[in-house]
Amino acid sequence: MVGRCSRCGRRIYAFEDRYVCKKWGYVFCDVCARKLQYRCPDGYTPLELV
Ligand SMILES: [Zn+2]
Repeated sequence: MVGRCSRCGRRIYAFEDRYVCKKWGYVFCDVCARKLQYRCPDGYTPLELV
């Protein structure tokens, strides 16, 4: 386990794709990243796939 999704709180494991918003320091699971349309909560900064 490498962390928790900042949006849903789900545990994220090392073998899973995860998305980070470096600007805000958030980590999101793939499901939430898709719901956010791969952008940070500010609406325009792209998430980075780790
Ligand atoms: Zn999530």
